[in-house]
Amino acid sequence: MLQSQVKCLAVVGLGLIGGSLAKAVKERGLAEKVIGYDRRDTEAALAVRMGVVDESAPDLVTLASRADVIVLAVPVGAVAPVLEEMKPALRSDHILTDVGSVKGEIEKAFVSVFGEMPANAVLGHPIAGSEKSGVQAANSALFENHKTILTPLPVTDSQALGVVAALWRGMGAEVLFMSVAHHDEVLAATSHLPHLIAFSLVDTLAGADDNKEIFRYAAGGFRDFTRIAASDPVMWRDVYLTNRDAVLKVLNAFDADLKKLRNAIADGDGQTLLGVFTRARAAREHFT
Ligand code: NAD
Repeated sequence: MLQSQVKCLAVVGLGLIGGSLAKAVKERGLAEKVIGYDRRDTEAALAVRMGVVDESAPDLVTLASRADVIVLAVPVGAVAPVLEEMKPALRSDHILTDVGSVKGEIEKAFVSVFGEMPANAVLGHPIAGSEKSGVQAANSALFENHKTILTPLPVTDSQALGVVAALWRGMGAEVLFMSVAHHDEVLAATSHLPHLIAFSLVDTLAGADDNKEIFRYAAGGFRDFTRIAASDPVMWRDVYLTNRDAVLKVLNAFDADLKKLRNAIADGDGQTLLGVFTRARAAREHFT
C-alpha cells in the first residue's frame, strides 16, 4: 500500500494528538477518508462538527472494520483495552500504529493482546505536543518541522513501516528510527524528567500559605519553566507508571546533582555554584 492508497484512516482518541493528526491527514489529502472514535461522545461529536474527521464510528469494532490504517492516540494505559475491544474486527492487512509517549509499554500492550508483536504494528511517537488537551486544541500544523520517532522491531513489516513513515512525512514531520529501549531512555531525560520537575515545583509553591502572593509576582521565567505543569494529569500519570526504570535512573542522577547544589548553597560554596551554572550555560547554548 502506498501512502496515496490509504483509503480509510481511523483515529482512536480524538484529543490533542489524535485530533491534530486527523486534521493534518485530511487537510493534506493523505487518506481518502478519515474516521474517528472517542470514548467521550462529546469529543467525537465535536471532532465531526469541527471537520477534524469525516465521520465518527459508534464503536471500535465498526471503526476497525471500515479502516485500513488505525492510529491509537489514547493515553498509554488505554492501548491494551482498546486493542482487546477492536480485536474481533482486526485483519492481518490492517496497519496499526500509535503515538504513545512510552514505547516499551505499548509493545507490552500489543504482546499481551496478541501473544506476540504483530508484524503489521508500527510503534511511533511524535515529538510535538503541548500542555493543552482535547480536540478543541487540534492543530494540523502541530507536527510540521518536528521529529517523529518510529521504533520498528525485527518482526515489523517493511511495507507497513513505509506507509506509516510516509504519513508522518506527509504531515511535515522528520521521521527518525530508534529502538524501543533507547526511545524510552532518551524521552525519560528530555521530556519525562522536566515534566516531573515542573509538576513538583508548582505543587510545592501552590501548597505554600502565601501561594497567591507567590503566583502574583511570578514573571516570564517562571511561566516558561512551568508551562508544562498544565499538562493532562492522566496522560502523565501513565507515563511515569510505565517508564518507571528509565525515569528513576535519570531522576536519581538529577536528585544527586540537586543535593550538591543544595549543599553548595548551605556552605556558601560559590565555586561549585559557578562551575555548575557555567557548564550548564555552555551546554544549553550549544544545543540551541
Ligand atoms: P488528550 O487527553 O488530548 O486525548 C486523549 C483522548 O483519548 C481523549 O479524547 C479521551 O477521551 C480519549 N480516550 C481515552 N481513553 C480512551 C479509550 N479507552 N477509548 C477511546 N478513546 C479514549 O491526550 P493527548 O495529549 O492527545 O495524548 C494522546 C496520546 O498521545 C498519549 O498516549 C500521549 O502519551 C501521546 N502524546 C502526547 C503528547 C502531548 O504533548 N500531549 C505528545 C506526544 C504524544
